[in-house]
Amino acid sequence: MSKTPITVARGDGIGPEIMDATLKVLEASGAELDIEEIEIGEAVYKSGIKNGIADSAWESLNRTRVFLKAPITTPQGGGFKSLNVTVRKSLGLFANVRPCMSYHPFVQTHHPKMDLVIIRENEEDLYGGIEYRQSQDVMASLKIITRPGTERIMRYAFEYARANGRKKVTCMSKDNIMKISDGLFHRVFDEIAAEYPDIENDHMIVDIGTAKVANHPEMFDVIVTTNLYGDIISDVAAEVTGSVGLGGSSNVGVDFGMFEAVHGSAPDISGKGIANPSGLILGAVMMLTHIGQGDAAGKIHNAWLKTLEDGIHTGEIYREGVSKMKAGTDDFTKALIERLDAKPEKLNSVSYPNQAGGLKLPPLKPRVEVPRERVGVDLGINFQGSPDELASLVNACVSDNLALHMISNRGTKVWPDGQKGTFCADNWRLRFKSNDGQPIKTSQCIALMDRMNKADLNFTKSVMLYNYDGQPGFTVAQGE
Ligand code: NAD
Repeated sequence: MSKTPITVARGDGIGPEIMDATLKVLEASGAELDIEEIEIGEAVYKSGIKNGIADSAWESLNRTRVFLKAPITTPQGGGFKSLNVTVRKSLGLFANVRPCMSYHPFVQTHHPKMDLVIIRENEEDLYGGIEYRQSQDVMASLKIITRPGTERIMRYAFEYARANGRKKVTCMSKDNIMKISDGLFHRVFDEIAAEYPDIENDHMIVDIGTAKVANHPEMFDVIVTTNLYGDIISDVAAEVTGSVGLGGSSNVGVDFGMFEAVHGSAPDISGKGIANPSGLILGAVMMLTHIGQGDAAGKIHNAWLKTLEDGIHTGEIYREGVSKMKAGTDDFTKALIERLDAKPEKLNSVSYPNQAGGLKLPPLKPRVEVPRERVGVDLGINFQGSPDELASLVNACVSDNLALHMISNRGTKVWPDGQKGTFCADNWRLRFKSNDGQPIKTSQCIALMDRMNKADLNFTKSVMLYNYDGQPGFTVAQGE
């Protein structure tokens, strides 16, 4: 078999220790790999590169299209961008797949029947990193959910379920609150689910859904969710299996794949030789199945299960009476390599085809143009004073057919007829709508903004309000 080129990064914190372990296991398994190393993370950030990855590293990634990555430490603040998010978005890795299962009775868990897969949308949502300081006191993050992005992740989830013999896909969203963004996510889920009658489907609000993952994980098979919820749920799920150190993860797109551990760089245990390398090793197993080296993948996975069964456990899962040896990273790795020809006896053994993975998704549904009309404008404004004072200043600027319809603060209507108890910060939203039922022209909005500017009313932003197919493309304020 010819060697498959892959790009490897050792990362930060425990990254180099667990990558070292993983590469030893890969080599001993007979995997045919041609490894190229790149440097990413803290050292690169410190050299002044704000996204933690040098231009030269992209050359390797773009050529190999397969990335085995150890966790990295993202510096707090200072204008640094998360490298993980940059890589996922730059390589179009739209699906993050995180299997979580319990290894009862060998790893302590309250939930012996857990065997679920979280499929997390990987490019959109609050991870766009589009944030603004809207005033001295008000900060805002923009949550982006798109129809094509959602359609793709939903289809991926159902195709994954079908290809892996899974029976049910559960969507989690918060569409009772975020009716437009999460509302789209839920609606597209229902649309795509209807095309897969052989797979059961249901939807849960993410708060109760996460609670159920924590306490009744056996209810779930495949979970599909947005980026932020997926991040949280997968850590909860990994922890419920017994340790966050046990979870591997793949990030896949049309052309590229990135494989890693679920956990982070664990600076608290770095350099002590006690980190569990399992998450990255299982990430490497997912990589081998992706590149069609199923024999090596199965060999490593079975040896890993046997090592657990034999009670060779790293400190965070070690349990008196069940574990036989409290292993450091090196001991665990050595024990796994010694078992590369063994299979588990009690846990289910696995086998993988020698066929390159990657799901072939059908093309996106054709885009149908929807008629829209401009019905108003929201203007953000900085102001300190009462809602009535603000309304009278603004009302002095409005023209005949663009009327001040409502003022809200932190999303709650405060004018007209606001509640006295509503706390107001220093950033306000003014909603203007047509008062003669006619669509609004851009020129009318600009004229209004010009009059307000002359009256010293300070803008922070403007957002046009549209109806799509007669339906409002914006929400009403709380209490409106
Ligand atoms: P973490 O996952 O690194 O650690 C959480 C806890 O789990 C710690 O107590 C740690 O010791 C333990 N733990 C994690 N991995 C372990 C392992 N393999 N073996 C034994 N114990 C393990 O999360 P954190 O502390 O919130 O984040 C630390 C850093 O990692 C941050 O800079 C964060 O940005 C980064 N991070 C990176 C990635 C990634 O590169 N994919 C993912 C998450 C967090």
